[in-house]
Amino acid sequence: VSAGRAEYRYRDARTADGARIKMNLNISDIAELDGLDPAICDGIGLVRTELLFRDQAALLDENTQFEAYRRLAVWAEGRPVTIRTLDAGGDKPIPGVTIDGESNPFLGLRGIRLSLRHPDLFRTQLRALARAAVHGNVRIMLPMVTIPAELEAARAMLNEAVDSLAAEGIAARRPALGIMVEVPAAAIAIDEFNAGFFSIGSNDLIQYVTAAGRDIAAVAELANPRNPAVLRLIAAIVRHGAEAGREVSLCGDAGADPALVTTLLRTGLRSLSVAPSALERTKEAVAATDLRLTLP
Ligand code: PEP
Ligand code: MG
Repeated sequence: VSAGRAEYRYRDARTADGARIKMNLNISDIAELDGLDPAICDGIGLVRTELLFRDQAALLDENTQFEAYRRLAVWAEGRPVTIRTLDAGGDKPIPGVTIDGESNPFLGLRGIRLSLRHPDLFRTQLRALARAAVHGNVRIMLPMVTIPAELEAARAMLNEAVDSLAAEGIAARRPALGIMVEVPAAAIAIDEFNAGFFSIGSNDLIQYVTAAGRDIAAVAELANPRNPAVLRLIAAIVRHGAEAGREVSLCGDAGADPALVTTLLRTGLRSLSVAPSALERTKEAVAATDLRLTLP
């Protein structure tokens, strides 16, 4: 990191023409919070809980999850903390939970599909999240949502979890409920989804739109964030968010690529979520962007 770049650490992200861009962090490990000052960001845009709890025992244990989520909520000092429910499957197997030997794991039982098939596991996570929401601005985000019924099923389970915690006399709050937009069916029919907020998962959205696997080097050139089909979808999601009054962010790797930041902001996006190690370079790329210019 150059000295110049480090100057961006504590600055709000702003384009050269003054547009304020929200900069959130992607977190995969609680240890990442050590020595990290929340004042450098607008909040946490993505917590990958399937990486937080690699071992299944922790997943089964409501209190272990609650402690981890509370730690995140308290760290953020009131800033939004967007915690994604388990996104196991695909490239992230969990022994005993995901299915071994799926012929195409990326098109199989992953993300919300898996959580809805394991209601006990999902309920435990929702309860832990609702309890942590007492300690900060916790928001719940569902991965791999394909149809509105998945969002509604999750909402019903969240409501049930909050109600039963209240009946048990356990402190809890109902967090906002949003979805990842990473399946083309959801991106194209975004207005069908009554979500509290949207976060674009560009890693998966790109692979599904271009039919080029994110882990297949031989087709990496096709999995191109600049593909107009991908950019038009992102622009349409942003437009819908503005019309519906719902926040739209992007938490895939594309947002942390300085060469892509201007292109993404030109779709209308005003919120990004990146790994802590990418924060300064992304803020620098935002500052170098002038949205008044019409050149690419
Ligand atoms: C994505 O798909 O862009 C994303 C942020 O989620 P993950 O990389 O964990 O699938
Ligand atoms: Mg994804």
